[in-house]
Amino acid sequence: MTPALIRGRTLSFNRAPQSIDDSAAYAYESDGALLIENGLIKAAGTYTAVKAAAPEGVEEIDHRPHLIVPGLIDTHLHFPQMQVLASYAANLLEWLNTYTFPEECRFVETAHAERIAGHFFDEMARHGTTTATAYCSVHKASADAFFAESLRRGTCMVAGKVMMDRNAPQGLLDTPETSYDETRAVIANWHGKGRNHVAITPRFAITSTPEQMEVARSLLSEFPHLHVQTHLSENRDEIAYTCELFPEAQDYTDVYARYDLLGRKSLFGHCIHLSEREADAMSESGSVAVFCPTSNLFLGSGLFPLRVLTRREKPVRVSVATDIGGGTSYSMLKTLDEAYKILQLQGERLNPFETFYMMTRGNAEALSLTDRIGTLEPGTDADLTVLNMAATPPMALRAEVVNSLADELFLLQTMGDDRAVAETYVGGRPAKSPLDAIQAD
Ligand SMILES: [Zn+2]
Repeated sequence: MTPALIRGRTLSFNRAPQSIDDSAAYAYESDGALLIENGLIKAAGTYTAVKAAAPEGVEEIDHRPHLIVPGLIDTHLHFPQMQVLASYAANLLEWLNTYTFPEECRFVETAHAERIAGHFFDEMARHGTTTATAYCSVHKASADAFFAESLRRGTCMVAGKVMMDRNAPQGLLDTPETSYDETRAVIANWHGKGRNHVAITPRFAITSTPEQMEVARSLLSEFPHLHVQTHLSENRDEIAYTCELFPEAQDYTDVYARYDLLGRKSLFGHCIHLSEREADAMSESGSVAVFCPTSNLFLGSGLFPLRVLTRREKPVRVSVATDIGGGTSYSMLKTLDEAYKILQLQGERLNPFETFYMMTRGNAEALSLTDRIGTLEPGTDADLTVLNMAATPPMALRAEVVNSLADELFLLQTMGDDRAVAETYVGGRPAKSPLDAIQAD
């Protein structure tokens, strides 16, 4: 791949901002550039400095006046739920049983899984999301389709074949044995191939027998470097039912702890209603609580206590995610807009530097992947999102009176969606404009 110089205003975080005035938390260049070579960021800084270091005659792509940020990261979603999104249900358990489980049954068909995987990666590119942590369905075919498409597109993805052996329709059940064999096969076929990462993925405690939870424990002890993803403490009925199914556990978190599934690479979707003891257990193990704002509002699950979890004496690591299809938008911008409102309802603020940190470096830290993604640091993968704060007429009108970076970020987060994404680069290659060209045909 020939080197390219991508010019625009650039923003990258080196740590979490402590306040809206904490300018030491990020690097911003009003005329910045990135030198991209072989899918990597070779140099970053001012246009003048990067241009001086670039090879003679380098191709230049000028995105001014747009803002270039690291590719957005989504730490929890379900790729087989693209046709579940916007299903009319009263709550989590009704939504699962009425819409989600029947839909996921269709992923036993390879052709269906491949078709939806194609749409999924298109939507990620259109929304500026370059890495996602995804649940496939219980069927190995769904994981094969997902990872094959990821390999083809060159994306950094974390995903897993869902393990579930009870409390769901027959077409969605594996067994402890098949979940072990098929997860091992998915690891052997896909982990480390291209930029793919396989996660051990028991759906949640309700749909796994103790025997299957033992299998998850064995898989993690065999592959301790892998991510683990599951759901925890989303809904009161779910919590009560889980505690009935595992009466020996102290609480919901303890169900996972008893199978050694807590840890720094373990991602727990939701964590809305944790007790103090559970939050301590999450903190002590370095586990990540994944905040899914649009899903929590849509399913009426509750208000994620972000500040309670992060400000406590034993802070809990957090990340943020769409949770498609319980979530209602693929856009991380819209997701952070709803996160902002959830904090407002708790009398808290969420400043725009913090939200942009969360969508980029913060989520990369939660995935333990900052050496590859989440920043514009030289040596990391060239996943970039180019944002246009004047993408729609009302945004353009509002943008006329924007006079600071904080204002711009807040405008993007509050009014932006896929239309604000001018381009997405995956490993240095444009991923959104080819889709726009297809649609224009
Ligand atoms: Zn979920």
